[in-house]
Amino acid sequence: MTGSASPPAETAAGASADATGGPIGHETAKRWFAQALAKGRLSGAFLLIGPPGIGKAALAKWIAKCLFCERTETASLTCCGQCPACVQIEAETHPDLVQVRKPADRAFIPIDLLIGPPDNRMREGFNRDIRLRPFRGSRKVAILHDADDLNEEGANSLLKTLEEPPPDVAIFLLGTNEQRQLPTIRSRSRIVRLRPPVGDQAAELMRRRGIECDAATATRAIELCGGDCAAAAGMLTPEGAELRQSILRYLTARQIDPVALAGTVAGVIDGLGKSAVGAVKRDRLREVLSIAVDSFRDQMIASANRPERLPAIHYRLDRSIEAISQVHRNANQTTLIECWAADLARGFPA
Ligand SMILES: [Zn+2]
Repeated sequence: MTGSASPPAETAAGASADATGGPIGHETAKRWFAQALAKGRLSGAFLLIGPPGIGKAALAKWIAKCLFCERTETASLTCCGQCPACVQIEAETHPDLVQVRKPADRAFIPIDLLIGPPDNRMREGFNRDIRLRPFRGSRKVAILHDADDLNEEGANSLLKTLEEPPPDVAIFLLGTNEQRQLPTIRSRSRIVRLRPPVGDQAAELMRRRGIECDAATATRAIELCGGDCAAAAGMLTPEGAELRQSILRYLTARQIDPVALAGTVAGVIDGLGKSAVGAVKRDRLREVLSIAVDSFRDQMIASANRPERLPAIHYRLDRSIEAISQVHRNANQTTLIECWAADLARGFPA
């Protein structure tokens, strides 16, 4: 199913979307979904892939609004944003919108959420809710957030649903990275790759997150964060700028002090408070590690005429990129931070 029928990867961004034009950017994907809908083929499983904060959930919810909107043509990918159906989708209370998310304190999506608890297997959960007849109209939309966090058992429980979904059900699986998706899921979904916004769209996305900045600043921040728009927004706050300076002082030292570095980073995470949910802490840690990636890239460029320094900087860069990929999975952030800081300190030749 991922062959010629697959949508193209997102390319150049178009005009900025308005309140009912859906999330910012993703024009290629929107056009592709509009064509699929016009041909009566907006059903089955779609795997939306893109960095955190890029608007995957917003895109899936907007498509749901377009499908359920009471004031626009069913066959056109448009919505009013104001009718009861649109309002209920936005509030996630529409009876024909089925969703599942990974709880913040769990490493994977619990199987019970997919197929029901042990004493009520197959009679509750995401899989069963998808198969229930629509309450209102003739369609259902299902959104599986955190597809990165499906373990094998969870993925296996979805296979039949993805392979033979009920007619007129559109299932959106949201993931940050194609490689993180199990092959069994990838092969049963049409993959839609979403790109981070650039230019005016990047600035608009930051504005919607409460950050006022110009297009170039927004684009660069998103690039530095590997397309992670949530981390980029954090980097552009005054606290983010201050944090950046304090972390950079450690990273640009000839000898990195692993204890001081780990202590500062841990302090940043702890500063969020005990009540901060896991996702917020992960965003913050990714932000810190993105600062490191950015710093080591700059150091490589600056050391072009000091080749003896390059292997160590290269190692630190790779190690920081690896740490970002570990953030999402690793339940124990303290260990992750300490190992990363120790490796950075060791990476520099004597
Ligand atoms: Zn509407």
